[in-house]
Amino acid sequence: MTKGVLGLKFKTSPLPAGLYLVATPIGTARDITLRALDVLASADILVAEDTRTLRKLMDIHGIDLQGRPMIPYHDHSSASDRNRIIALITEGKSVAYASEAGTPLIADPGFKLVTDAQSNDLSVTTAPGPSAVITALTLAGLPTDRFLFAGFLPNQQKARVEQLSTLLKTQTTLVLYESPKRILALCTDIKDQTGPDHPVTLCRELTKRFEDIRPRPVSKLIEELESTSVKGEVVLVIGPVSQSGASDGDLDTALRKALLTMRVKDAAETVAGAFGLPKREVYQRALTLKDASHDETQPSDTSKTRRD
Ligand code: SAM
Repeated sequence: MTKGVLGLKFKTSPLPAGLYLVATPIGTARDITLRALDVLASADILVAEDTRTLRKLMDIHGIDLQGRPMIPYHDHSSASDRNRIIALITEGKSVAYASEAGTPLIADPGFKLVTDAQSNDLSVTTAPGPSAVITALTLAGLPTDRFLFAGFLPNQQKARVEQLSTLLKTQTTLVLYESPKRILALCTDIKDQTGPDHPVTLCRELTKRFEDIRPRPVSKLIEELESTSVKGEVVLVIGPVSQSGASDGDLDTALRKALLTMRVKDAAETVAGAFGLPKREVYQRALTLKDASHDETQPSDTSKTRRD
């Protein structure tokens, strides 16, 4: 057992041969799991999208390299770079792989490494942890029961509009990564397809000092982005578009009104009928709204009951 500089304890012990995908923080260095530190401290070989970033993270947590090799593996790595890593695992080495930030393979390299290792019957496991998708989703204030993550949409407007149109038809909450330079253009495309009142949440600089979460109708967000451009890393969460073409805001307004006079089940049935939506989906939404209105009238969060 070793004490890191931040006081976290990690274990160093030999690891069985295999590929270990290690999730790393998306902002705050302490957002790393103890198991991730164990793997980084114990693996025979460290492979990283950016070796300097990983080295810095290990330094922060007091993990010595102790002469272990560090190998770069990124978007531009070749099949022979990959074969070299696979050969090391085949020889019996434990190989830890970390992308620059967050979870490897999530809009980051690592997919072919995993499939190559699996097709060679090598062990692949993970020390799971932070990812901007889930972090944004938990803070967005939009439905979380069903969501679709689509990474970065194309830069080219025609292709982006086409993909957006397909994604919006799924009627789920959408989570997109985007560069701050293109976020205004993306929001404009969304407004054109959903209408100005559609709910979106801009999640910027997650887990960092100036974390900034903006749940807004899309037209309001556009106004803000036109007056002050944003910097840093951003995720955009888009509320589901209902089948009837009505926005999520319209649905919530109708449900809130119905809940004033009806039981949850009846309110959901009535509104689902009016909007031409599946009853189950509207029922879930009605429960969420009911819970939220209940919470608002409570003096403190004393109830820990789970809603299924
Ligand atoms: N593998 C990472 C993950 O698990 O989230 C994603 C890597 S991808 C190359 C980088 C993008 O993720 C950024 O452009 C941004 O859209 C999003 N992202 C990563 N960190 C973020 C943060 N702290 N705040 C907001 N968005 C972030």
